[in-house]
Amino acid sequence: MKQCLILALALVVCLLGRVCAQGVYNTESIDGIEYVRLSEVCRNYKLDPVAARGSMVTYQGTHRVSLRNNHQDFYVNNYRYVLSYPIRSYAGQLMISSTDVRKLVDPVLRPQFSNNAGTLHTVVIDPGHGGHDAGAVSPYAREKDCNLAVALKLRKMLQDCGYRVVMTRDKDVFLTLQQRVAIANRCPNSIFVSIHHNSGRRAAEGIETFTLAPHGTTSPFARTRRMADLAGNDQDSENIALATAIHSRAIKSTNATDRGIQRARFSVLCTIERPAILFEGGFVSHPEEGRLISGAKYQEKLARSICEGIVGYSSVVCRNRPKGNSRVATNGGSKGRVRTSISGSSMGKTTIGSRKQRGNKRG
Ligand SMILES: [Zn+2]
Repeated sequence: MKQCLILALALVVCLLGRVCAQGVYNTESIDGIEYVRLSEVCRNYKLDPVAARGSMVTYQGTHRVSLRNNHQDFYVNNYRYVLSYPIRSYAGQLMISSTDVRKLVDPVLRPQFSNNAGTLHTVVIDPGHGGHDAGAVSPYAREKDCNLAVALKLRKMLQDCGYRVVMTRDKDVFLTLQQRVAIANRCPNSIFVSIHHNSGRRAAEGIETFTLAPHGTTSPFARTRRMADLAGNDQDSENIALATAIHSRAIKSTNATDRGIQRARFSVLCTIERPAILFEGGFVSHPEEGRLISGAKYQEKLARSICEGIVGYSSVVCRNRPKGNSRVATNGGSKGRVRTSISGSSMGKTTIGSRKQRGNKRG
C-alpha cells in the first residue's frame, strides 16, 4: 500500500513537472492559430532576454534562443529550425504558436522528458533512390551513389556501437517509397534515417534535415492548407529530438551552411510508424560541396555525425543505452558523460554562442 502511494506520488510529480515546464499560458487566437506570449514561455524555461541586435530577439539561459517577428526562423544554440507558424506581435508582445511550443520548443529544450521513445535496438538506414532512379545528378556526383556510400559507412559505425542495422538497400537497386516504409515498419524498437543529397541553383549549398510536420500544421512545401486532413504521427517529439541530434552534429563537423531542421510531408515520412528523419547531406550541384560529397572523407564525416547523433539521441531520449563502444563514438570531449542536451554542442556555457554564426542561404 505504502509503495503504491509512493509510486502514485512520483507519477503526479513527474506529470506536474511536464505540465509546468511546457507551461499553462494565456492564449490568443491570431488568424485562427493559437498563440502564447514568448516572454512567458521563455520564463518557464528560465531563459532571460538579452540585448536585441537589430530585429533579432535573443533569450539566454542554459540554452540560447533567437528569433524575429514575422519570421519562421528559430535558432536554438545557433542551430536553425523552421517553425510551423511565424512569430507574431500582439498588443506589444511577441507571440509564438502553442503548437511550436509543444512540438518544437519543449522537445528540443527538454528532450529527456520525451515519453514515447521507448527503447532503441535497430536503426533502419534508407539510402535514397537507386537503380534507374539516380536522384540528383551533377557533373560532380550522382545522388544515389553518395547516399549509399554514406549509408554503408554508417552501418559499420552503428554496428560497432552495438545497434542492429537494417538497410532498405545495400546495393544499387530501386525500391519504391512504400517498400522502404514497409521495411521500417516491420522493425520494432527502431528509428528510420533516410539519407539524401540535394540539387538546386548553382549557389545553393548546405545541410538540411526534415521531420514530419505535426498534426494539423501545414508544411513549407504544401500548396493548400486543408488543416483537418493533415495528420502527424505519434512521434513528433522524438522526430524533432532525433533531427536535432543528427543535424547539429553534421553542421558542426562539416562547417556546412545550416539550412535548418524543417517540417515536411514527404510520403516516406508520412506513413512511417517510428521516429524518422530525412537527412539531406548537401548539394551535389554546388561546385565545391558537390566535389566534397563525392569524396570518401566527407562521406565518412557525414556518417560519423549521423552515428554520433543517434548515440546522443539514444542516451538522452531512449530508455536504453547502446552497448559496444558507443562511448567512444559520442566523442566531442564528452566521453562517458551522460548528456542532458540533444544537440552535439553541450549546453554548457562554454559552447553556447561560441559556434560560428553562419549565413543561411536558401537554394
Ligand atoms: Zn533524394
